[in-house]
Amino acid sequence: MSENAVSENVNIEEIFGSKVFTLGKMKERLPESVYEEIRNVMQHGGELSRKSADVVAGAMKDWAVENGATHFTHWFHPLTGITAEKHDAFVTHPDNMGRMIMEFSGKELIKGEPDASSFPSGGLRATFEARGYTVWDITSPAFLKEDATGVILCIPTAFCSYTGEALDKKTPLLRSMEAVSEQALRIVRLFGDTKATKVTPSVGPEQEYFLVDRAKYLRRPDMVFAGRTLFGAPAYKGQEMDDHYFGAIRERVGAFMKDLNLELWKLGVTAKTQHNEVAPSQHELAPIYETANIAVDHNQIIMETMKKVAERRGLHCLLNEKPYKGVNGSGKHNNWSLTTDTGVNLLDPGYTPEANVQFLLVLACILKAVDEHADLLRQSAGNVGNEHRLGADEAPPAIISVFLGEQLEDVVRQLIETGAADHSIHGGKLKTGVSTLSDIEKDATDRNRTSPFAFTGNKFEFRMVGSSDSIADANTAINTIVAEAFCDAADVIEKSDNFELAVHDLIKEYLTDHARIIFSGDGYSENWVKEAEKRGLPNIRSMVDAASALTTEKSVKLFERFGIYTKVELESREEIVYETYSKSINIEANAMTGMARKLYIPAVVRYEKTLAETINAVREAGGDISAMSEILSEIGTELSAVLKATEELEKITADAKAMPYGKDQSVCYRDKVVPAMAALRAPVDKLETLVDKRAWPVPTYEDLMFEV
Ligand code: ADP
Ligand code: MG
Repeated sequence: MSENAVSENVNIEEIFGSKVFTLGKMKERLPESVYEEIRNVMQHGGELSRKSADVVAGAMKDWAVENGATHFTHWFHPLTGITAEKHDAFVTHPDNMGRMIMEFSGKELIKGEPDASSFPSGGLRATFEARGYTVWDITSPAFLKEDATGVILCIPTAFCSYTGEALDKKTPLLRSMEAVSEQALRIVRLFGDTKATKVTPSVGPEQEYFLVDRAKYLRRPDMVFAGRTLFGAPAYKGQEMDDHYFGAIRERVGAFMKDLNLELWKLGVTAKTQHNEVAPSQHELAPIYETANIAVDHNQIIMETMKKVAERRGLHCLLNEKPYKGVNGSGKHNNWSLTTDTGVNLLDPGYTPEANVQFLLVLACILKAVDEHADLLRQSAGNVGNEHRLGADEAPPAIISVFLGEQLEDVVRQLIETGAADHSIHGGKLKTGVSTLSDIEKDATDRNRTSPFAFTGNKFEFRMVGSSDSIADANTAINTIVAEAFCDAADVIEKSDNFELAVHDLIKEYLTDHARIIFSGDGYSENWVKEAEKRGLPNIRSMVDAASALTTEKSVKLFERFGIYTKVELESREEIVYETYSKSINIEANAMTGMARKLYIPAVVRYEKTLAETINAVREAGGDISAMSEILSEIGTELSAVLKATEELEKITADAKAMPYGKDQSVCYRDKVVPAMAALRAPVDKLETLVDKRAWPVPTYEDLMFEV
């Protein structure tokens, strides 16, 4: 057995949720009345009484301390896209005998004031009025984080300013969940559902990532500082053989996955599928879907745990969207659906979608929402790493379209053409042609891999989100635009005195007006770009251009109407996009010029010396120096190009940095600095192919991708 193989057996049932203060544990540890009160608040909102909050806090602390916790933290999602925590020990003032009694009150549970004034706020918080509060998200369970710091009780919270503006990604998400619930309820009521009291968005995010040997990673400043390689000639082999995708998992990676699953299960994360992805050393993990805000929390936990477990195994986990040039990057497929608290998935078409009028209305509303707010959806998936994926080297394209599949597309066509649909295409039997293999029922619809917003059976899969990004923004956008479409539809139908006719007309109207968003062809093709333009669909290639979608009149109206963001909050978020973009590119440019001057140029100079000395020696000995001289001269030419490009990049970056934050600066970074970075990369990558590998100062693509 290899040293990595872990031999002990794992009992998932036993360990699952062992580090989570679950409902089950609350039931065990809380008086019944308090337990009922908390369940009620979780389900219907409202506030926990101060007395009950104290009881819950006490029980939570006892459980945490029994499990070794020394600190608690309000865990939140600032606008950096990752999570934040400030630890507080359970210590209190010792009594006069010098004895310490650990305490944790309801007040501390519910509200925190972490200061935290250094997070990006897009001008919302001047530091002199820096009060910011964290507020307990009662619907997402508290958990224990265990690492070198010890055991920390983490309480999921929302983070708001003194004046109530959202300073985080959680608050708007929770607001959007309530909005879509309220509007979806109006729809199901119209269809006669009197029992449902809540409609919840469910989310299942598939997380892609790369693993790299940690020692090698640490020798690449570009990876350490920018999270991706900024230099590197292609390896001898890329992903062209398709032999990594779904391939047998290597021992070292398998040991990582096993550890990762264990940690995640203990944290109540339902890690479900794992496999090798398309690019060498790329992998994927998908949990089972759950309520949107919990899915957001859990996705953060997944990303953090991946990093931690990788480190333990001598690996590093790369979440960046494009760690390597020339092979696939990583994304996060965000599967989304809506379910009533009575268990009905509003996106389930059933066996006869043509007869499922409620489903058809929901579908029509979603198409309308996506078409009208394609720019917002695109914006919600903007992040710096994703610039190299969306509409650039690989798909999904930056154009938003919806894939419905053959069956639904046919139903939609019937509805548009005749106003009624009376049949639908069914999958039928799949014949294997082998007598010992059974024939199976096919799905009604094949898959499409290139669509950014694809219907997949009973959910939509939004595929644009970047692998390192929080999924909060994307889900806030989806929830809100769908809430609006539901609201518009309910407004019309509630007023009409002929329900059936009103629904029928509305479905036909929405489908007809928004059919342009439906596309089932190849999203990667140049033809689609042209076709989409003809259809008038936006193609926003860069996050810098997408950011202004947040503050259009249409968007402000939408978000204010449902109380998701105020205009000021939207403006601040747009500002943060520019700031983040500019700062990130600035770091990348610094890393490049620094590596050029401190690593590549000196290494090449040393190699030139060796080569020159050899040439002299060979010449003296009467040997043939022509090949060596040619190489030396070629290296000299490339080295001059490196120096020139380095100086140029330094100058252009300094100019960009001197500009004030804002869109103009970001455009300058994108249009001037990024091309200058490419101009520096080219001669360095060329040199990599000319210089002795043993003289090259950093690990190469072969070392990084193929020796994990
Ligand atoms: P694939 O790669 O084939 O698309 P995966 O199994 O990798 O599928 O991931 C699918 C994701 O979608 C999982 O997280 C799964 O739990 C989630 N999912 C399944 N049904 C729903 C649903 N009704 N709503 C939201 N997410 C769902
Ligand atoms: Mg998958």
